Amino acid sequence: MLQIEHIGIAVKNLENSNLLFQQLLGKPHYKVESVESEGVNTSFFMVGNNKVELLEATNPDSPIAKFIDKRGEGMHHIAFAVKDIRSEMDRLEKEGFKLLNKEPKPGADNKLVCFLHPKTTNGVLIELCQEIPE
Ligand code: ZN
Repeated sequence: MLQIEHIGIAVKNLENSNLLFQQLLGKPHYKVESVESEGVNTSFFMVGNNKVELLEATNPDSPIAKFIDKRGEGMHHIAFAVKDIRSEMDRLEKEGFKLLNKEPKPGADNKLVCFLHPKTTNGVLIELCQEIPE
């Protein structure tokens, strides 16, 4: 894995949280994006080489809505940048980690992504992401 790419935070209201994180980080978000397949609206803040991703559910069946129902707002996942997502997925599966999707899928911010089940990663939801080549 290359580096921490971003930290995902589940929020109830993206507009309010954009203002809050703008105050916290001292700069505005640089991007807002909906990922319909995941039922989320996202926004991104750049912090040095890393990003903070805020995620808001767009419907009650969204994984973010379920997460907030269970645990409330807060840290949702850590995303690691990888060079070749398929080979990382193969490697991790062989190591015994449970992949939540068997094929890389399109995520926010021009990425292919795969999530690892938190049961196999000390309770932390891990996202692998690879920049989609232009
Ligand atoms: Zn993410």
